[in-house]
Amino acid sequence: MSLLSVIVPCYNEEESVALFYRELTKNDPFFKEKEIELELLYIDDGSKDGTVREVKKLIEQDPRVHIISFSRNFGKEAAMFAGLEKSRGDYVVMMDVDLQDPPSLLPEMFEYIWQGYDSVATRRVTRKGEPPIRSFFARRFYHLMKKISQTEMMDGARDYRLMTRQMVDAILSMREYNRFTKGIFGWVGFRTKWLEYENVERAKGETKWNFWKLLVYSIDGITAFSTAPLLIASFVGILFCVIAFLMIVFIIVRKLIFGDPVSGWPSLVCIILMTSGIQFFCTGILGQYLAKAYMEVKRRPIYLVKEEI
Ligand code: UDP
Ligand code: MG
Repeated sequence: MSLLSVIVPCYNEEESVALFYRELTKNDPFFKEKEIELELLYIDDGSKDGTVREVKKLIEQDPRVHIISFSRNFGKEAAMFAGLEKSRGDYVVMMDVDLQDPPSLLPEMFEYIWQGYDSVATRRVTRKGEPPIRSFFARRFYHLMKKISQTEMMDGARDYRLMTRQMVDAILSMREYNRFTKGIFGWVGFRTKWLEYENVERAKGETKWNFWKLLVYSIDGITAFSTAPLLIASFVGILFCVIAFLMIVFIIVRKLIFGDPVSGWPSLVCIILMTSGIQFFCTGILGQYLAKAYMEVKRRPIYLVKEEI
């Protein structure tokens, strides 16, 4: 017998909880045949609706279901981490509760694990049903990450992933406070098989992400896995020194040889505005990293549990 832990982060998902359970347990015959025991961990990320109530209903029917309830909303990253920490399985899989990560893919994923892969990850090849601007910026983000970070990050990668205990322990050994799981998966390495599928639209409820949250998330991702932005400041500084030097030469030559009077305050104002703008921008980048370092040294817990069944 081997144990499979299924980690499901939920934030205000009362409509999806039971639906997900029904879809997942369609795999029961497969689990039985392959002698896989199941442990289903719903991580309630401080939901304000009836999510906890719905999960408790399931717990009464099925002892394989568990809940870990946070004291407030800590975000999906924290929920996934809590799930990994609490899981006891030989295999661990993370899934969204909204059925965008089809549980019917599990048998195929297990095939690859038995073939010797350490993890089976999924990515969607289409972004059907998603707002076009979101897709556009998501693509740009992965493109940029590929350029500035040494860590491999796959475009369209979902957090839906089946892993062996060995890989889970590797991920748990990364105790950083600013967690960006998509990067962490790549960073720990191991042999990964990628499965592709068409995007599935959310079964019930609404996405918990808006444009602003995604923007902040992508900045977190960049600063967590690349220090390239810090280089920008140095390069822009050098570039401006070169421009300044050329202009000094130009102005002196013009005055001494052609006798032109020095004129033009507008150009001066433009230059001052632009350079101070760039300086603020670079200070901002610096501030991002400083803030991250500040949060890390505080060593605050990644999540707080209110209730656990
Ligand atoms: N989620 C969470 N905490 C949050 C936001 C989302 O646990 O603060 C969960 C949510 O319940 C869902 C998963 O993360 O199971 C993915 O969220 P969503 O479907 O809203 O994201 P999208 O699919 O639009 O990227
Ligand atoms: Mg979703």
